[in-house]
Amino acid sequence: MSIAYEFESKPAAGETMQVADGLHWLRMPLPMELANINLWLLEKEDGWSIVDTGINTEVSRDIWQKALANVTAGKPVDQLIVTHLHPDHVGCAGWLASKLGVGLWMTRSEYLLCRILTADTGRPAPDAGVRFYKAAGFPDESLDRYRQMFGLFGKYVAPLPESYHRIKDGDVLASSTHCWEVIVGHGHSLEHACLLDADRNLFISGDQVLPTISSNVSVYPTEPGANPLRDWLESLAHLKTRLPEDVLVLPAHGRPFRGVHDRLDELTAEHLTALDKLHDLSGARAGGRRVPGPVQGPNHEQQPDHGGRGVDCTPQLPACRRSSRRFGGHRRRALVPALLAPGAYRICSRYANAAASTIGIAKTMKFAAMPRPAAIR
Ligand SMILES: [Zn+2]
Repeated sequence: MSIAYEFESKPAAGETMQVADGLHWLRMPLPMELANINLWLLEKEDGWSIVDTGINTEVSRDIWQKALANVTAGKPVDQLIVTHLHPDHVGCAGWLASKLGVGLWMTRSEYLLCRILTADTGRPAPDAGVRFYKAAGFPDESLDRYRQMFGLFGKYVAPLPESYHRIKDGDVLASSTHCWEVIVGHGHSLEHACLLDADRNLFISGDQVLPTISSNVSVYPTEPGANPLRDWLESLAHLKTRLPEDVLVLPAHGRPFRGVHDRLDELTAEHLTALDKLHDLSGARAGGRRVPGPVQGPNHEQQPDHGGRGVDCTPQLPACRRSSRRFGGHRRRALVPALLAPGAYRICSRYANAAASTIGIAKTMKFAAMPRPAAIR
């Protein structure tokens, strides 16, 4: 499996580069581990659309001032599109909307949840949230960090406009020059919008498809029964049916590339491998066997791109090879109730991206009899 990067070079942080006729790539630096985000400026006959906005910092706003002066000069920005609510994408949207007097286009779930999270800013962490992460196996220091990080979302996100333009799957954002079809994905965020220009074979993927890393897939205290991993796998399968194999993918992080079908397969396989490991480990525990090697506690890393609520966890799993049940073409262990017991969520794989994802994985196993997406049948 392989992908092919489209360009030898990339714009320096804070600079732009034209990647197609009327389509400019603005590479915006981020004050976090994920060092840059790709933003897109789309030229139309009589104006510009902006896709995603960067985290709301002085650095970002200065870069926007320069980009607006250099790239969009002469024609107004008349449309602001945000793929999803994470601060690196939506952060400057409210500021840009106010500064430019331009409307905001988002999916409904992303807009509404973003309004809620910005309203939470400054509030103390709820007890239910602490209980949720404690049940997921987080040690006290991680719980303290959750308390500290809670309510920081609004620090990185300018207040959104009071109203917005709803976009949904299948909508077409048409101008006299180009048509972008909205394709919605789930699992990384509630209702993530991607944009496909079928005529020019271009796909703005946001965080739904990235070339080198899997996006964060987590369960949050606000919906502890959610199964975002299943949503994620279904979305990857769905995207494969909607996208031409040779489409040029313009991701939010990393470089533009072709080979999206292979990449979707890789992302799917990565999570199925994680499921294998979890099934194996849970089976070993339920069978009363001592699992070889240590199972480390969660290494809790909260990042501002997930509103101070997202939780990355990178414990190590011991190798354990038993499996007894077919799941998606792989041999997989049957559901073991022990994994669903309180505290058992501490057993998770770094391949699963997040401790909270383990809850999603547990749910995936619990409901394994439910229909599965075609790609993993
Ligand atoms: Zn994101």
